[in-house]
Amino acid sequence: MHEDITKLDDIPAKVQIMLQEGFLSNNRVEMIGYSLTNYLSDILDNKIQTLTLQVTQQCNLRCEYCIYFGSYTTRRHSNKVMDFLTAKKGIDFLISHSQNSKLLNLGFYGGELSLEFDLIKEFIKYIQEKAEGKKITYNITSNATLLNKDHIAFFAENDVALTISLDGPKDIHNKNRKFAVSWKGTFDVIVEKMKIVKEKFPEYYSRINFNCMLDPRSDISCVNEFWAKDELLKDSFVNANPELFTVIRFTVVSVAFGFETIYNPSISRQIG
Ligand code: SF4
Repeated sequence: MHEDITKLDDIPAKVQIMLQEGFLSNNRVEMIGYSLTNYLSDILDNKIQTLTLQVTQQCNLRCEYCIYFGSYTTRRHSNKVMDFLTAKKGIDFLISHSQNSKLLNLGFYGGELSLEFDLIKEFIKYIQEKAEGKKITYNITSNATLLNKDHIAFFAENDVALTISLDGPKDIHNKNRKFAVSWKGTFDVIVEKMKIVKEKFPEYYSRINFNCMLDPRSDISCVNEFWAKDELLKDSFVNANPELFTVIRFTVVSVAFGFETIYNPSISRQIG
């Protein structure tokens, strides 16, 4: 529009402008097409690339915003664990429907996935045997509190992309992310774990992503400063998500919540 017609009092003039811009037309959309529609069945039969396995619904934390906890009524933490046969069926399906894909991605979803580390190792071993010749990538998210050297060594060896959930400085992180039994915040444990990973697996540490849920009740400028300046974490890759919403980059989130003033180029570069 050339001018803001919401500010015009003259209704006929408003209508005239809208007509000029193509609105209020008798033409109706008859069909919406998408260039890949005709290829959809072929893609679904031969070019599927990604499979995500929900390995467990259990967790050693009880985060305020968790989909298995708090205000959600449709799901609950439970001891349900994916058995090998179910994972095998999923992996077999992926392989038999990906003849035209050189790249495959196997993702793991939880719950806290390190609780089922042995199962995850089995799933990875199975797909590596069955999808020989293809490049396979893996991704896993963890709350980090149970990670040990065996986990990290395996992830590094198999090039598993690890994302750690950390919501910013201690007081902000601990507000939402607490242990299930003690109800204590998890920040200190995570930082200690990350120090060890950085010391023992420096190359792998540099590839770890961090997932930061933005709680609109918190001071977002403190979160911004934390990721920009914390000695251990300042060079990390960070996905910052508005709580309960989808994954959006930090800069966009800032605008969405009206925090334009805290835009930080150093963070946007890290996550870019
Ligand atoms: S770590 Fe993840 S699965 Fe566990 S309670 Fe928190 S959000 Fe839920």
